[in-house]
Amino acid sequence: MSPSADHRADDPAQNRCLVARRVVHEKEETTEREDDEEEEKSSDEGLLLQAHHAMERMEEFVHKMWEGRWRVIPHDVLPDWLKDNDFLLHGHRPPMPSFRACFKSIFRIHTETGNIWTHLLGCLFFLCLGIVYMFRPNMSFVAPFQEKIVIGMFFLGAILCLSFSWLFHTVYCHSEGVSRVFSKLDYSGIAFLIMGSFVPWLYYSFYCSPQPCFIYLIVVCILGVAAITVSQCDFFATPQYRGVRAGVFVGLGLSGVIPSLHFMITEGFLRATTMGQMGWLFLMAALYITGACLYAARIPERFFPGKCDIWFHSHQLFHILVVAGAFVHFHGVSNLQEFRYTAGGGCAEEGGV
Ligand SMILES: [Zn+2]
Repeated sequence: MSPSADHRADDPAQNRCLVARRVVHEKEETTEREDDEEEEKSSDEGLLLQAHHAMERMEEFVHKMWEGRWRVIPHDVLPDWLKDNDFLLHGHRPPMPSFRACFKSIFRIHTETGNIWTHLLGCLFFLCLGIVYMFRPNMSFVAPFQEKIVIGMFFLGAILCLSFSWLFHTVYCHSEGVSRVFSKLDYSGIAFLIMGSFVPWLYYSFYCSPQPCFIYLIVVCILGVAAITVSQCDFFATPQYRGVRAGVFVGLGLSGVIPSLHFMITEGFLRATTMGQMGWLFLMAALYITGACLYAARIPERFFPGKCDIWFHSHQLFHILVVAGAFVHFHGVSNLQEFRYTAGGGCAEEGGV
């Protein structure tokens, strides 16, 4: 240590002065640093703003590009959230984060074209059929208001199912979030169709036994709500759960086996197949179950990978079978309605359910 330093350390007045000077110096340094930081901050904010604007312009450009020109792409370059069926090798839409582009793609040829149109046309068909049916003269019904509501539930279920379905297939390629929301609607729609199909069938089949009719209706509603609830889980939409999905909806439909057996036991096989329209019910079940099996096993594309990319792949066949099944059910229900009209509203002479 030098003598001068020793001397400075011994003089308290000089020490205070030094400390004061150091404090002033540090304060000045801090103020300069703060000024520098503020300048840096404002320049950072400016850069961020510029980047944000650039991103916006980029997004605008991308949207315009998607709306104009895009090409179908092979399965292996799809992002994970768009990879659903690896037997469809080519013809997929790329991710298109624009609703306008998604809706325009309805008129282009790709893996979803058939899925969209089968249910879009099916939806329009049931909408027209429903309107025509609702405007039938009241004199063709025993209890027009009640019966129109009951049959209207079937039309509502069918229209909801088919419209959620074509909407889902249209916007499926928008983004991961949009595809997730619409897939949940799509699955819920299947539950609505099944529940709506039960209503008129139970109403006419158990016309003179309101108690079992009501119990079966409550049970199918509880099962339907359970199916809708499980459809809201994110894992439910993943490709690994394809079989589980088919199983849940086939199980919901097959819950109709118990009221069918009840009906056949009380009415006898002959009356059940003639008056009860059981033949149409079996055909409907066969169409739905065949559709669900093709969907779960991915037949025929499993045997011809790359050959059914655009037409006749399992999902399209499943869609066609759903529309056919719903129409067969409508035919059976309208026959039941006619039988009820011919028999009149009385129950005593019917002797059965
Ligand atoms: Zn579908």
